Amino acid sequence: MLERETFSDFAHDNRLTRENPRELNEKCAVFGIFNKEAAMMTNMGLFALQHRGQESTGISVSDGNKIRTRKAGGLVAQVYNEQDLVKLEGLMAVGHNRYGTSTKETAEKHAQPVLNESQTLALVHNGNLPDTTKLETFLSEQGIPSDRLNDSEMMHAAIAYFVDRGATLEDAVWEAVPYFTGSFSFLAMDKEKIVAVRDQRGIRPLSIGLLNGGYIFSSETCAIDMLGAKHVRDVAPGEMVIAPKDGGLFSTNFAKGEQRLDIFEFVYFSRPDSYLLGQNVHIVRERFGEALWEENHVRGDIVISVLDSGTPAAQGYAAASGIPYRDGLVKTRYAPRTFIQPGQDQRVQAVRMKLNPLKEVIEDKSLVLVDDSIVRGTTARAIVALLRQAGAREVHMVITSPPVKFPDFYGIDTPRQSDLIAAQRSRDEVRRFIGADSLHYLSFEGMVRATGLPESVFSTACFTGIYPIDIGKRKQEISFHPQ
Ligand code: AMP
Repeated sequence: MLERETFSDFAHDNRLTRENPRELNEKCAVFGIFNKEAAMMTNMGLFALQHRGQESTGISVSDGNKIRTRKAGGLVAQVYNEQDLVKLEGLMAVGHNRYGTSTKETAEKHAQPVLNESQTLALVHNGNLPDTTKLETFLSEQGIPSDRLNDSEMMHAAIAYFVDRGATLEDAVWEAVPYFTGSFSFLAMDKEKIVAVRDQRGIRPLSIGLLNGGYIFSSETCAIDMLGAKHVRDVAPGEMVIAPKDGGLFSTNFAKGEQRLDIFEFVYFSRPDSYLLGQNVHIVRERFGEALWEENHVRGDIVISVLDSGTPAAQGYAAASGIPYRDGLVKTRYAPRTFIQPGQDQRVQAVRMKLNPLKEVIEDKSLVLVDDSIVRGTTARAIVALLRQAGAREVHMVITSPPVKFPDFYGIDTPRQSDLIAAQRSRDEVRRFIGADSLHYLSFEGMVRATGLPESVFSTACFTGIYPIDIGKRKQEISFHPQ
């Protein structure tokens, strides 16, 4: 896993110019907790979920009378200091990390929790509403202008509308949810309670934990584990869970749920120590590697990984094939964002800032290079070039997912279809573009089998173009018969 921001700063990435606010809510993390050190614990929870979003972060805490918030652009470790957290007094909190590639100003502007003017309702959202027509119509009928709001802000405005008319938080959410078309795992908090909701296909994860009698909501189980809490269960697709400040957990279904977790959570997105639908992400990724070997039998002197999410698969590949796994690249953990101009040389330089090849390990070797996905092909191309510069004799690229041919509209930042290299070029053309000696993808069936779960529980949209939640007029952006 190499975070793509490295490139997007200078690669004429469409996400940089994409200033439509509706598009800005990408892969994110949500966290909520009832605890006497709510702010501190939320800080830790968000820290564990940093991989889901590095652009901005925010925490809202309620002490029963007042909601206080701190949010800003930057990483969790940069945004909150101890005094901030002490000032955020209260027994319940919600927090958010946002992913995006926009400028610092935009990062601040779109940082969540979303709040109303009176600071009485906080919302944190992971997901994306590809079609907001219904929601916009509803808001405009109520006289609420929505043209400058992103999807999460519109969701907040709809819930706030009902709250302002005297509805309880859960009733307001219940009334508003039918206007939300898309993927959402969100937490809404007023002074008294947290309401946790997952869309009826459960595209993005949302788990429930328990610590000293207080409930936790988290995008991933890793944050629950790291706080020493117990993972109780997940919020079910189509379920609304209500957690009042006096304790207890109440549940109701706003729609008939049918699980369709985004399979990309296993491929790239989630942390290896998290559990999705009962399966550990690291183990599934190891199985991706084993399956890749079974399917392709690509040989080399050593197996190396594009850190980090490629690593378990590379280890699985090595174990299954008997080819030794070696560290062929060293990752700079705190590489700064780079602001250099486009161009292949500079791109290679930017990758080198993050991943430096270990010449002694790779020189004169035939490499099996494992990564989780090829989206635009920029990462793979830059890394192959680097490895060759460092003396690799052959580079065989193996990818632990099938070709990404369709854009994601549910909250993972994959670009327009025209930027998806596998939608535009044949496998051999992709191989040539990245400069590898051979290129192999895991088959769709192999990927699903390795999860240990049936295909029916997944959204596989980015591989198959089958979108389990209506994407409305966004369909027009897609060719269903790409390369
Ligand atoms: P690309 O360079 O566009 O082909 O992107 C592929 C690389 O980005 C791989 O190393 C993946 O680990 C990583 N990746 C895949 N999906 C995403 C995503 N949604 N956001 C950021 N990085 C990603």
